[in-house]
Amino acid sequence: MATNQDTTPIPLSPEDRRAMRRVRDRAKYAANPEPFRGRGRRARAAHREARNAYNRAYREAHRDELKAQQYLYREQTREQRQVANRTYRRTQAEAIRIQRKAYRAAHRAELSVRNKQYRAEHGEALKHQKKTAYQGNRATILARNSAYAKAHLDTLRAQKAAWRAAKGDILRRHKREYARAYYAAHPEIRAAKDRRRRAIKAGALIRDLTPAQWHAIKEHYGHRCVYCHRKMTQLTQDHLTPLSKGGAHTLSNVVPACRSCNSRKQAGPPKVPVQPLLLVGDSREHCDRE
Ligand SMILES: [Zn+2]
Repeated sequence: MATNQDTTPIPLSPEDRRAMRRVRDRAKYAANPEPFRGRGRRARAAHREARNAYNRAYREAHRDELKAQQYLYREQTREQRQVANRTYRRTQAEAIRIQRKAYRAAHRAELSVRNKQYRAEHGEALKHQKKTAYQGNRATILARNSAYAKAHLDTLRAQKAAWRAAKGDILRRHKREYARAYYAAHPEIRAAKDRRRRAIKAGALIRDLTPAQWHAIKEHYGHRCVYCHRKMTQLTQDHLTPLSKGGAHTLSNVVPACRSCNSRKQAGPPKVPVQPLLLVGDSREHCDRE
């Protein structure tokens, strides 16, 4: 039995076979590596190409079927997906925020164009949507805003100050330009403002004459100087009790006078006593906003 055992070849284990194959292959490759180079990569690439082509053809051929399948899947898993999405959004809020910010930063120009186009196409619908949403939740929104403002008083104040520091010049310039255009279109309001400023400078405590009242006074006197009765378009305001003597810049103390009569009057008392216009009723109701 012992001699038999010596001549019988010992069966190789699978591990040994693999090891032998490895040794053989390595020797073959070392002797002539050229035919092996890139073969794995080429084979994988070819396989990938074939697989993709097959998948594409399959999708083309079963388009409707796949669509129906997908739709069914979405319907069946709607709630699950909603829950999952909500959870994801809640637990990954910070990551999502960062991701979105990065995306917006990277696609700024593109997004701007797209948004502009969308607003141009859906402007009315968006406006309506916004309005309806606001009206439906007005009380809630106002309460929320006010609570937020109260809770973030200092932050908001600092934010405002920072904004002013950064954009104050632009804002001021904008305001100045607006005022210039407004006064150019409404010279009577500009003039009234100047006169009121003079009244303030002269120390008048009451200075409530409005452009509408001044207009009514001129109408009442037929656009004539109360002293020389000449009719003219450029009448000055004469204060019966001068501002310098504590007179008020108010309806009952103002009469129209030409420039020369007004300046002559400053030297002495007027020759003609004048009755100031006392409008009946509340004249303020036609006052322009100043
Ligand atoms: Zn006059």
